[in-house]
Amino acid sequence: MIGITDWPQKPRQHETPVPAETGRDSSGDNPEQALRAIREDIGDCTRCRLHLSRTTIVYGEGSTQARLVFVGEGPGFDEDQQGRPFVGRAGKLLDKMIMALGLRREEVYICNVVKCRPPSNRTPLQDEAQTCSQFLFRQLEAITPGVICALGACAAQTLLATTKSISSLRGKRHSWRGMPLICTFHPAYLLRNASQKASAWQDLLLIHGILTGHQEGK
Ligand code: URA
Repeated sequence: MIGITDWPQKPRQHETPVPAETGRDSSGDNPEQALRAIREDIGDCTRCRLHLSRTTIVYGEGSTQARLVFVGEGPGFDEDQQGRPFVGRAGKLLDKMIMALGLRREEVYICNVVKCRPPSNRTPLQDEAQTCSQFLFRQLEAITPGVICALGACAAQTLLATTKSISSLRGKRHSWRGMPLICTFHPAYLLRNASQKASAWQDLLLIHGILTGHQEGK
C-alpha cells in the first residue's frame, strides 16, 4: 500500500436538502457549510458533564471532501490542550496508519464520538456518548465518505449500536447508514499491544480495498 499516490476524487452526489428532523443537514452538496453549521450548533456546549473539565472542544479536522473518515473515542490531554484530534502519541500512530494507506492526514477527516476530554481519559459514559453522538452522525452525513473507520470499541459500538467487543467487530465490513464501516483497534491500544498490529493491518487492507474499488464501496 505504501507508495500509492493517486487518490481519485470522490464523486459528489447531488443531494436534495432534507428536513432537520431526519438528522441530515440541509446544506445540500456543501459539506463545508454543513460542517460549519454543526460546529455552530455545538456552540460552547454544556449538554453533558464533560464540559466541566474540558479546556477546549475538539470538533474534528481534515478534508471536507474526505473519502475516509476516522472516528476515535474522545480527546485526550494533548487534544484537549490543542483543540485538535489525535495529536498525541496515539495520533502519531494514526498518522502512520494513514500513510500506510497512501494518504496524507489532510486528505482524510478525523473526529471523535465525544468532543470533550473525559476526566483522566476514561471511556465516555453511555449518556455522554449518546448526547454527543448526534453531532458525530451529522458530521458523517455531511461528509458522506466512501469508508468510515471506527477506532476502538467506543466508536464501533456507538456507530453500530451494539455492545459487542471490538475483537468481534473488527476484520469485516459493516455499514453505517449505507456507508461502508470498518472497525479496528484504537491506536492507543496498539501502542500497548503491538502484537495486534497485524490484525489492524488486515483492517487497513479492507479499507484500502474499498477505496480502490477492489471491494465494492460507495
Ligand atoms: N484518542 C481518541 O480517541 N481521540 C483523540 O482525539 C485522541 C486520542
